[in-house]
Amino acid sequence: MSDVVKSLSPRLIPAADKPIDRPSREEAEAAVRTLIRWAGDDPQREGLHDTPKRVAKAFKEFYSGYDDDPKDVLNKIFAEVEGYDDIVLVRDIPFYSHCEHHLVPFYGMAHIAYYPTKGVVGLSKLARLVEVYARRLQTQETMTAQIAAAMEQYLEPRGVAVMIEAEHMCMSMRGVQKAGAMTLTTQFTGAFNDPAEQVRFLTLVRHGKA
Ligand SMILES: [Zn+2]
Repeated sequence: MSDVVKSLSPRLIPAADKPIDRPSREEAEAAVRTLIRWAGDDPQREGLHDTPKRVAKAFKEFYSGYDDDPKDVLNKIFAEVEGYDDIVLVRDIPFYSHCEHHLVPFYGMAHIAYYPTKGVVGLSKLARLVEVYARRLQTQETMTAQIAAAMEQYLEPRGVAVMIEAEHMCMSMRGVQKAGAMTLTTQFTGAFNDPAEQVRFLTLVRHGKA
């Protein structure tokens, strides 16, 4: 295990990878009815009657990442790349997540780069990896670190760069109400600890050419 993975490991294992005692669907729907009453409405009125059922179903989709394992996403490495070992960058990967403090959405773009050593993964796998972590209760900082740590652990690259740009609805809709404020997080490992490599990454993310 590399030092990077070790240093991130307490955060790499989210609640999702621990066995959780899940309630029944009926219990989940009852909880939604309670929250509707907490908001000040009547869960029995016609428009809200089927809402608990729909919310329970939507939760399954919003939080499907708890049933996914990054290992399964990154398990197929293509070694036949004619010695290609330069940067691989997938930028502008859209994602939707929910902040773990308010259960309110935050959403934006993820950009992931790595320098391969033993081969490359299918490009769509990087988007899938983002989904594994986005579809959980998250903070943007944790998600950024988790993506970098999973890349480190399963691809053993010369370096990983992850940048996430997101708008947090809990900032836009409540509290300080700053609509449009973007939060930017980065995590660099290995070769990307070199400031020149970080500049190359950021230039490619912004302009598409080095
Ligand atoms: Zn929040």
